[in-house]
Amino acid sequence: MLSNSIAELDRRHLVHPLASWRGHEKAGPRILASAKGATVTDAQGHTLLDGFAGLWCVNAGYGQDHIIEAATRQLRELPYATGYFGLGSEPAAQLASRLADHAPGDLNHVYFSLGGSDAVDSTIRFARHYWHSKGASERDQFISVAQGYHGSSVVGSGLTALPVFHANFGVPLDWQHKISSHYAYRNPVGQDADAIIEASVAELRAKIAEIGAERVAAFYLEPIQGSGGVLVPPKGWVAAMHAVCKEMDILFVADEVITGFGRTGPMFACGEEGIVPDMMTTAKGLTSGYVPMAAVFLSDHVYETIADGAGAGMVGHGQTYSAHPVSAAVALAALDLYEGGLLDNGVKMGARLMDGLQGLSDHPLVGEVRGRGMLAAVELVTDKAKKTPLPAAAAPATRIFDRAWQNGLIVRAFAQGILGYAPPLCCTADEIDQIVERTRLTLDQTLEDPDVR
Ligand code: PMP
Repeated sequence: MLSNSIAELDRRHLVHPLASWRGHEKAGPRILASAKGATVTDAQGHTLLDGFAGLWCVNAGYGQDHIIEAATRQLRELPYATGYFGLGSEPAAQLASRLADHAPGDLNHVYFSLGGSDAVDSTIRFARHYWHSKGASERDQFISVAQGYHGSSVVGSGLTALPVFHANFGVPLDWQHKISSHYAYRNPVGQDADAIIEASVAELRAKIAEIGAERVAAFYLEPIQGSGGVLVPPKGWVAAMHAVCKEMDILFVADEVITGFGRTGPMFACGEEGIVPDMMTTAKGLTSGYVPMAAVFLSDHVYETIADGAGAGMVGHGQTYSAHPVSAAVALAALDLYEGGLLDNGVKMGARLMDGLQGLSDHPLVGEVRGRGMLAAVELVTDKAKKTPLPAAAAPATRIFDRAWQNGLIVRAFAQGILGYAPPLCCTADEIDQIVERTRLTLDQTLEDPDVR
């Protein structure tokens, strides 16, 4: 009764991101009521395993007392402090320092924003200031990768390369360019790692030449493309892209909004790629999704150059909630948990998840299983040899999501028929096995769908 009236309030008044507004009025919401560990309970009392950690963000799992107590303490002590006018707070300073300790190389300076989108926007501004400080304001062109996602702000959505984020917004802007994705399963050059790397290097060089090397400000990539369908690049691909940028003196920005904080195993994916980006964006797992916060890391070189630039590094950029003390306290507590064993558990459970999902490879609908750490995908096809995607008529994004939900599992169901997994790092072996089993059941039911041919 209560949940029905809540659903009605939602239907009438709440505008949901990335949903058909009329569609939502008809379908109504699924209201979540509570959560603990990797399990969420909806308003009807139905419990589900959250195989997607909210929106790939609740890395520490739900209901972690250590985080809740840190937030409560901070709320009592000092619930707000601005970073403007040189003010600050204890947790924000501690967090910046602790993050710098964890970050690869000399990414020693941290700017806090509210989420991934404005973190990306911040890097665009920092990149422009950096080149201006070096007397090269003409370096105002940006390159990113097809299938990439870098947020949905008005400007940053132009670096994003997923069409749904472009329609009616006039993006990409004319200074935002793309190269093809590595997408190994469907790469025109085939699946050989060397061939893919060679093709991408050639394409990046050609794109830079087309724009003019002296015009290019920065290149953006995700160490693993998330929203594009969990696309894992061949080993060495990220380093090869980085090498081209270094050679051409182009800023290299790693968007680790999904891959950061243990999602792929280590604290940051760049570390295992053996590269140090000039800037790195993180969010999601930073606070385990408990409260909003993002962190932009700047290398010594980028920081020093801007600091020595016009106005001694006065960048006209900031947000009321930058370095929010409650968010910082939450992030510090999440770091305690990551350092205290959660990352290790994530590595073990990630291997189990991959093994389990690989075990589904014999299923008639499974074209490919891929992933790293606690980030994985199962790409579905109707013909394995021809790699035929599921037809749009089978509405994978809604029908497969619904079936999984009925089976007590939350997965990301991408429209092109890809299932995405990003479970909390706290999962037990039994929970991982359940995620796999419920996926198998969901796939069996999908095979029975007359629209899947
Ligand atoms: N970059 C990447 C790689 C992301 O995956 C996301 C969000 N999924 C963003 C940026 C934007 O983050 P937010 O939704 O917090 O604005």
